[in-house]
Amino acid sequence: MGADSIRRAGAILLVILGGAALWWAGNGAPASASANDAMVATIAAARERAAANDPRLKGASRFEEGGWIYVYLEGDPGAVGYQHGYLLGPEIEDGFAAVSAGMMHATERDWEFFRKAAHEMLWPKIDAEYQQELRGIVDGLRARTGSKLDVDDLVAFNAFEELPDYYVPWLNKRQKAANAPNLKSPGNCSAFVATGSWTKDGQIVMAHNNWTNYRNGERWRIVFDIAPKNGYRMLMDGFPGVIASDDDFGINSDGLMVTETTITQFEGWDPNGKAEFMRARKALQYAGSIDEYTKIMLDGNNGGYANDWLLGDRKTGEIAQLELGLKAYKLWRTKDGVLAGSNWARDTKVLKEDTPQFDPNNKDSSPNARRVRWEELLNENKGKIDVALAEKMLGDHSDTAEKKEDANERTLCGHVDGSRRGVKEWDWQPYYPGGAVQGKATDSTMTKEMRIMARMGHPCGGDFLAKPFLAAHPEYAWQEPYLRDMKAGPWTEFRSGQMAKE
Ligand SMILES: [Zn+2]
Repeated sequence: MGADSIRRAGAILLVILGGAALWWAGNGAPASASANDAMVATIAAARERAAANDPRLKGASRFEEGGWIYVYLEGDPGAVGYQHGYLLGPEIEDGFAAVSAGMMHATERDWEFFRKAAHEMLWPKIDAEYQQELRGIVDGLRARTGSKLDVDDLVAFNAFEELPDYYVPWLNKRQKAANAPNLKSPGNCSAFVATGSWTKDGQIVMAHNNWTNYRNGERWRIVFDIAPKNGYRMLMDGFPGVIASDDDFGINSDGLMVTETTITQFEGWDPNGKAEFMRARKALQYAGSIDEYTKIMLDGNNGGYANDWLLGDRKTGEIAQLELGLKAYKLWRTKDGVLAGSNWARDTKVLKEDTPQFDPNNKDSSPNARRVRWEELLNENKGKIDVALAEKMLGDHSDTAEKKEDANERTLCGHVDGSRRGVKEWDWQPYYPGGAVQGKATDSTMTKEMRIMARMGHPCGGDFLAKPFLAAHPEYAWQEPYLRDMKAGPWTEFRSGQMAKE
């Protein structure tokens, strides 16, 4: 035991004794609420102080800017996890409460169901490295907050995009479940990646806004800067407690640029496959090329959270689209072009076999109306596209079905809470509190320097206010404990290795 460890042990012992003395005094004296509160606070403070001295936290850091929380995590998988769990402990507890409530509400299944799916189906196929990281998150979280969550809770939570909307509908169909809720795979995001004659400098520009319900989206505000022991350094946005970006916007130190939009009305699940959240994280950490990225995503493809992946490799200037169905997939690639996404599949085989319900010809649907808008906007700006322009595009409110400006479910910056139509393809009812919740953009030069731009809240800068919304739409009252204001922050630059501003 070194001098540091002895001092640390001494400090821990002192705070534990301090807590015990208070507890003893509390028992001897007439019970008083303030003494009890003081005891609880003392023990919690002792736990936090002891945990803060944990050697696994060495090097890790956190600061807040522009509505985002930036965390720097480094080291072996267990340490990266511990730092994640400790530095984001309160946000993980809060995010877990909101997400798990939504999973249970939508599927009419209890939490034990999701724990079992995580434990029996997902966990055995998670690589040892990520099992260690997930265990580390639980350890760090418990050390910070005294949380009772365990690794099954955390794995189910990490799979919040794939278990409720992919696994459960597949299971309901298999079990011919009577009165099963009408679950639809989500349609999250508007994005593009452009290169060659399309961009101002001839290099790659990539941009993405995340569409989700506001309840989850207002919590999707972490910037992860991760320097893992193995693999490439990563800079990505993400959700507290989840090891993948999950709305998927990230870059790595080998020059790979990654984003996606979900495939609307996708159906299918392979219970023997590997969790999507693990494959997506692994691909960002280990892929240095479009081919390597594709290979990792295909290895154990479980059909969960099926996406049209938009990729760029700044080393070659090449971009690609990987339309990853379960029964079929297709890869397009080019060094001179633009690839956009707004939740529609286009490969005939994927359309036929993986999204049989999707109607690519319905111009009034959210995915197709946004597809038309991307084509207009990108063609109008061919040769001029840069990060500043991309930021503007992410906040666009042109509705191509109505042919006018009207922030709604058909605009690149989505505001479904303002639409009497909702989005029936995703089972979002009229005035559903969801839409674009944040945006990010980067280019080849910024990726070389490991920098991204990010804006929390609607990319147009508009605010969502929970109280007037709930008053006008009592049908969403069940969300009241979790739904908060989502105020837009400024476009903010983040870079790997950044420290808090003085
Ligand atoms: Zn907007």
